[in-house]
Amino acid sequence: MNSTPSSLPHIGLGWDTHRLEAGQDCILGGVLLDSPVGPVGHSDGDALLHALTDALLGAAGLDDIGTLFPDTYEENKNRDSADFVKAAMHAVQQNGLQVASVDCVLICDEPRLGPYRPAIRARMAELLHLCETRVNLKGKTTEGGDAKRITVQVVVLLVNA
Ligand SMILES: [Zn+2]
Repeated sequence: MNSTPSSLPHIGLGWDTHRLEAGQDCILGGVLLDSPVGPVGHSDGDALLHALTDALLGAAGLDDIGTLFPDTYEENKNRDSADFVKAAMHAVQQNGLQVASVDCVLICDEPRLGPYRPAIRARMAELLHLCETRVNLKGKTTEGGDAKRITVQVVVLLVNA
């Protein structure tokens, strides 16, 4: 029997990884970074917004991003990943929930995220209808262990709206 009170918060974890290649646009968290390498992907390759979308969907108990937006669909080619977050947020709101807090870890050797943190936080806060102080972002390097890849982990907390 399910007797969990519906007022308890919902946690969601998202994870994504993309190969980095020279000459690709580098869009992370909806922000274009000045970088010699960028993530390769069917959409715009925004690993941060993909992981965020999966975290939102997971917390709301919904299918993952690959099921909702298959990379075999032409309409998802070069797509702005903010569309995925907006769709996930719509589902969150339909379920009577809202985002309370987000924490992200971006693991890559380049680009360096430091200068872009404020802009990325602001864009994510906008997409999540959330105060910037509740969006946190940490950059980690692999110390040269996997220089040709970006990996992102995102955890979100949803509460009743
Ligand atoms: Zn992705």
